[in-house]
Amino acid sequence: MTFSVPDTSVRPEGEAPGLTTRLVHHAYQPPAGFAAPQPPVYKASTVIFPTVAAMRAREWKDKTSYTYGLHGTPTTYQLEERLATLEGGAQCLLVPSGLAAIANVSLALLRTGDEVLIPDNAYGPSKALAEVELRHYGIRHTVYDPMDLADLAARITPATRLVWLEAPGSVTMEFPDLAEQVRICRARGVVAALDNTWGAGLAFAPFDLAPGSEPLGVDISVHALTKYPSGGGDVLMGSITTRDQALHLRIKLAHMRLGLGVGANDVEALLRSLPSTALRYAAHDRAARELARWLQSQPAVVQVLHPALPGSPGHEHWQALCGPHQGVQGAQGGQGLAAGLFSMVIDERFGQDAVDAFCDGLRLFKLGYSWGGPMSLVVPYELASMRERPTPHLKPGTVVRFSIGLEDVEDLRADLAQALLGAFGGA
Ligand SMILES: *Cc1c(COP(=O)(O)O)cnc(C)c1O
Repeated sequence: MTFSVPDTSVRPEGEAPGLTTRLVHHAYQPPAGFAAPQPPVYKASTVIFPTVAAMRAREWKDKTSYTYGLHGTPTTYQLEERLATLEGGAQCLLVPSGLAAIANVSLALLRTGDEVLIPDNAYGPSKALAEVELRHYGIRHTVYDPMDLADLAARITPATRLVWLEAPGSVTMEFPDLAEQVRICRARGVVAALDNTWGAGLAFAPFDLAPGSEPLGVDISVHALTKYPSGGGDVLMGSITTRDQALHLRIKLAHMRLGLGVGANDVEALLRSLPSTALRYAAHDRAARELARWLQSQPAVVQVLHPALPGSPGHEHWQALCGPHQGVQGAQGGQGLAAGLFSMVIDERFGQDAVDAFCDGLRLFKLGYSWGGPMSLVVPYELASMRERPTPHLKPGTVVRFSIGLEDVEDLRADLAQALLGAFGGA
């Protein structure tokens, strides 16, 4: 086997370099040809060029070479390519969080005088970014009703450059007519960016929303890998997937200028958990649907918000996109696919104190944000402070959201039962 030995002979008369020099520039090179199931973890800020000519000819626009750790290593390139495959896109960029993905897209595509549209049930911090930073930069945002196509169409103006979409909203779980929303954006020449964290590239194909008919897909899919692809509740990362090279480059340039790098250890964790995402997603889904159906029969619960349950807001749109024999895995599931996330509305005759007591009374469900990990989580929400538009489709009461983990579903049911009884009695 041949491998190149670095030339470290800088001292006269062949004298060996000093000890520290030899530790930094060591002569030993491991043999090539090592193979193992997991991709190697390359850690780098500095990337070494073989010659000045190579340094000058550096190419950062695609994955043909390397320039600087911030702009990609073999490890990050591999995760990006796998995520592009998962989401059905052509290019993918990694960012330090799901929220950073949203910020990167907005900062890349919007400038002073532009407008961005955000659904009223959007991920909260995405709205906060528009309300503070974007506004400071002279970028206006308008909130639209995700369940009213006419409202979306009416709010697009000549200044609108970007429409954010979510399917479903991750607290109140309304599932919009995503394909029609994208058609409206397309007809008006506005970029449609989906926060695809819930679908995770599994429940439906964001770049192929109307299989069989004319090609129809979002322009951009951002994904909080923090949730299902990580699956551990221990890694923060986001991705931005596109199918259009020019759009990808606009976002990538902003990504470089903003310095949105990711850590190699986090990428390693994602590369390890990614192959099991579909299995875990299906398991979270099964358990969540079982518990959501059971909660429908509980007297204190006036509404269960889960897009796969008939009667839940936008259920018909979930059915059309993710239902049996739709979506990416539809042929396998038979039940369609949904994430392990749902909410319930507690009857308004119980006050916030009783709802807080219910959440505090849970023993296996823990109080905490985020979702997609092995541990079941619960969060009570004060909807009034979160929405600008009326929500007639939601029954009056207090919204409590669950992320169903991987515990035994019978244990989770027993935990819910004891906490319901403790907080609301026989209701
Ligand atoms: C969690 C989440 C994000 C943000 O992801 P982070 O990695 O926590 O920043 C964005 N959108 C949705 C829908 C989310 O659930």
